[in-house]
Amino acid sequence: MAEEKQRIAPDLLALVSVGSIASFVTLLCVVAGSYPGARPLLTVVITGLGAGGLILFRQLRKGANSLAASEARAQYVATHDELTQLPNKALFVDRLRLAAKAVGTPESVASFALFQIGLDRFEETVEVLGIGASDQVLVEAASRLGSICRDTDTIARVRDDAFALLCRGVTRDAAEAMAAEIVQRLGAPYAAAAGHAVITCSIGAGFLTPELDQPIEAFREAQLALSDARKLGGARYSIFDPSMDQALKNRKALEVDLRRALEEDALTMKYQPQVNAKGVLVGVEALMRWNHEQRGVVAPNVFVPLSENCGLSEPLGRLAIRQAFTDAKQWAGLKVAINVSAAQVRSGGLIATLEELLAETGSNPRNFELEITEGVLLADEAQTHETLNAVRGLGFSIALDDFGTGYSSLSYLRRFPVDKIKIDQSFVSHLGKRPESSAIIKAILDLAEALELKVIAEGVETRAQVDRLIELGCTLHQGYFYSQPVAAVDIADLLAGRSKLAA
Ligand code: C2E
Ligand code: CA
Ligand code: CA
Repeated sequence: MAEEKQRIAPDLLALVSVGSIASFVTLLCVVAGSYPGARPLLTVVITGLGAGGLILFRQLRKGANSLAASEARAQYVATHDELTQLPNKALFVDRLRLAAKAVGTPESVASFALFQIGLDRFEETVEVLGIGASDQVLVEAASRLGSICRDTDTIARVRDDAFALLCRGVTRDAAEAMAAEIVQRLGAPYAAAAGHAVITCSIGAGFLTPELDQPIEAFREAQLALSDARKLGGARYSIFDPSMDQALKNRKALEVDLRRALEEDALTMKYQPQVNAKGVLVGVEALMRWNHEQRGVVAPNVFVPLSENCGLSEPLGRLAIRQAFTDAKQWAGLKVAINVSAAQVRSGGLIATLEELLAETGSNPRNFELEITEGVLLADEAQTHETLNAVRGLGFSIALDDFGTGYSSLSYLRRFPVDKIKIDQSFVSHLGKRPESSAIIKAILDLAEALELKVIAEGVETRAQVDRLIELGCTLHQGYFYSQPVAAVDIADLLAGRSKLAA
């Protein structure tokens, strides 16, 4: 319809212009009738005008056609993805709105299913294959999708690494079967990635229902289901369930509360003692606590990752460092370990924050140790190296947390400036239960000795674990066997001999 309109308008313009010439020619004919002497001259003029009119008509028509073609082209470009030639998100949402109008009307026999199809970890694929080959993968994936779908379905490329699919008249069972088929077909090897990358896809599916206020809501629900499929490891599909929405809403509400808790200074630090083989207190680990008014204690395992998703990791990290620096002033001779998240190290602002807080609190960096996880070492190597060297340069030492659970690569230990490793509590808790735990701990101790690193075991809960660790040669311990994390004043009491560790 729109295209028709575009074609008619320029044709009309051509006709009007030629029509004006024709009227002028008619006028000349009338003049020629009245003045016979002027006839030869007027014949030449009229013939010339006729020919000119024809040429003008042709030119105008040509111009009009090319104008219509370029407008149609612009329209196409605005609504399609250049690489795959599939509709883009804007066009998809248009079709979704149309479909939403049909839902609930008598002629819509069955519902519409909406799929969001994401290629898993596609940024990594681009890094490994380069842009050219990964583009070929996307084109191939689009064509595979095309071969699975029916003509009445709409497939679109809605993000760099994601497609969306709208199917009419699909029951829940059929949607599940279709999702399973797409996961399987899009997960088959790609010629462009052969030998370099395995490419899989995850799918989130939802349905357009009359209850949904906005069709875009269906898009969001399918996106939530996609996130769910990815959380479960990818290469699978998930069908939207209202609990997914609830989980997201809870998380968002918690983010709002965390922001307020930070503003209102409602987060506190607890300190867990670290002891040597004689049971003497030699250090503490600073652990953050959030006592939520309604929810009670929220675990740092919940709110620390949450802070990273909502841009709060910097203020949260700053709070932990400032509090630990301040509290530690009363504890001469104790090494205080502070956890630093990967986001803090990556942010690039860690060094400035440390310098600023050292100056503000007048603390000595040699009394502090920053705990990082192996994930930090996996990130951008040059920048991580630079940051960790600068941390060391300021006088802090560095401990590698949760050692043994991640990549535990010997090469990391050699390449990065690490002073201590913390044997993860899972190995300690399996001591005496699984024979390999002793062997792993022994191997870590040997490795640390060769690299001249200190070692501490965390999560020590029983006398038997203490004895076995000492037997193996691990003399620094931390865990409930000695003490739970306690308030700063309790550490001062321990140091002053006003109280004793449980062990
Ligand atoms: P983590 O650094 O591995 O901390 C050790 C966790 O083990 C702490 O949990 C501690 O309370 C717990 N724990 C200590 N002894 C025992 C034991 O004998 N048995 C068992 N089962 N658990 C023990 P918490 O305080 O809940 O902290 C959890 C995680 O949250 C920490 O793991 C750390 O990764 C993170 N976290 C805590 N505070 C901070 C912080 O200030 N900044 C950052 N970035 N992360 C923090
Ligand atoms: Ca830690
Ligand atoms: Ca740990």
